[in-house]
Amino acid sequence: MKHADIVIAGAGIIGLTLARELVSQGVRVLVLDKEDRPGKHASGRNSGVLHAGIYYSPGSARAATCLAGNRLMRAYCKERGLPLTESGKVIVAKTEAELPVLRALYERAVNAGAEVSLVDQARLREIEPHARTVEQAIHSPLTAVVDPKEILKSLRADLRASVLAEVRLGVTALGPGGRRVLSTSAGPVEYGALVNACGAYADKLAHQHGLGLRYVLVPFKGVYRKLRPEAAHLVRGSIYPVPDPSTPFLGIHFTRSVYGDVYIGPTAIPAFGRENYGVLQGLDAEAPEILWRDAVLFATNPTFRTVALSEPRKYLFRHFFADAAKLVDSLRPEDVAPSPKAGIRPQLVDVVANTLVMDFLTESGEADLHVLNAISPAFTSAMALAPVLADKAMALAG
Ligand SMILES: Cc1cc2nc3c(=O)[nH]c(=O)nc-3n(C[C@H](O)[C@H](O)[C@H](O)COP(=O)(O)OP(=O)(O)OC[C@H]3O[C@@H](n4cnc5c(N)ncnc54)[C@H](O)[C@@H]3O)c2cc1C
Repeated sequence: MKHADIVIAGAGIIGLTLARELVSQGVRVLVLDKEDRPGKHASGRNSGVLHAGIYYSPGSARAATCLAGNRLMRAYCKERGLPLTESGKVIVAKTEAELPVLRALYERAVNAGAEVSLVDQARLREIEPHARTVEQAIHSPLTAVVDPKEILKSLRADLRASVLAEVRLGVTALGPGGRRVLSTSAGPVEYGALVNACGAYADKLAHQHGLGLRYVLVPFKGVYRKLRPEAAHLVRGSIYPVPDPSTPFLGIHFTRSVYGDVYIGPTAIPAFGRENYGVLQGLDAEAPEILWRDAVLFATNPTFRTVALSEPRKYLFRHFFADAAKLVDSLRPEDVAPSPKAGIRPQLVDVVANTLVMDFLTESGEADLHVLNAISPAFTSAMALAPVLADKAMALAG
């Protein structure tokens, strides 16, 4: 039987940054992932934006880690020579009715210590000449973009270079296999502590350990389109709308990637599989159960209903384009091209309180820690979250 001080299931950004943190503290770790390479799911399919601490409720774990994570990740990219563009972002108001929300967002960001300014239209033109707003916009110079896959690759290389770490790919965590033993597709593994960083499947592994029973993860699909190269000059950095504060999503936005392509999206459309990236791809036996859960949420949860009513229409180009065109002047339908890029955001639902959980959430047992809701901005936050998770895991390992 293999043994490690701490076994981490899931080699996404949460698993890999945690492993790196533990190794830096002299702990022996084993990281397992069911896929043949890291980044096949959320951590390799996101917008690559390092958020800058604007949106999150005061006192939340998201607020506590976003800005610090942004700084750590930017420093890591600079130190390792990884792609990083510190292009900033603007948040624009589409209507006059959005102005009070924009200003409240600005106040919240300032109180959280984010470096932001409220700019008028003239200043907005200097920052993003084609962004469209009513009266004012928020400017966030610390928002940056990275290549998430390159970061994952680099973190894996860091672990490979350490005698304390082992990353085993193509190994699925199956559930408890005895006291401090994890059953896996490659046989049992003994641990001091187990960390479940399984992303979209984290609730499943937690349930098998008798934890997180009041929660389920509901998948939302994010699809993107792209500006054609001739139109890419319309966006310099990132242009975001004022978000609907009642939903966990930020609304479709424009982001110039580190390679110069400008992506538009992602949507947040209820999906029928945890890995349902295409129309049929990733649909499995769980689809009817997910469909039923969505139907119940639709009937009973106003936030879910808002998302479910507004998002699926964005599959249709004219609706997607209409939303996008509200953010950028002189955008024409022919400027927008399809893109194969798609990701799934697993969103935790508290089925007892019937609410969407709006913050990171962990639950722990005797020797197991479960990261249940690594929602956005978990990619940005990961390096600041890692020491917090490491402390918890080490306390369990004894
Ligand atoms: C479309 C989209 C856009 C986003 N944009 C941003 C953004 O711009 N900025 C930002 O900060 N955040 C963004 N996010 C959120 C961010 O990507 C996630 O919060 C983050 O990647 C979650 O990381 P994770 O390690 O928990 O999950 P994942 O990356 O999903 O990793 C989980 C890993 O666990 C593995 N796994 C699952 N089950 C098992 C098992 N039983 N055994 C072994 N391995 C298993 C999977 O293969 C996977 O590799 C976005 C997300 C999406 C989907």
